[in-house]
Amino acid sequence: MKVKIEPRDECLGDGICADECPEVFEMDDDGLAIVVNATPSEDLREAIQNACDECPAEIISIEE
Ligand code: SF4
Repeated sequence: MKVKIEPRDECLGDGICADECPEVFEMDDDGLAIVVNATPSEDLREAIQNACDECPAEIISIEE
């Protein structure tokens, strides 16, 4: 599984993804989300999917 935030400049900075799955998403110094683990283990899939579903900007994607 590969996780991306794209385009990152559309991030709204609400931190939802970082709350859902802090192992994969963090907020940077500019207040935008970054992916800190782009190839996470399967046990994080549900949390990542929640982040993806709840992202208001719809910019989180999961590739198999
Ligand atoms: S959930 Fe989406 S809009 Fe919110 S911080 Fe994460 S990437 Fe940005």
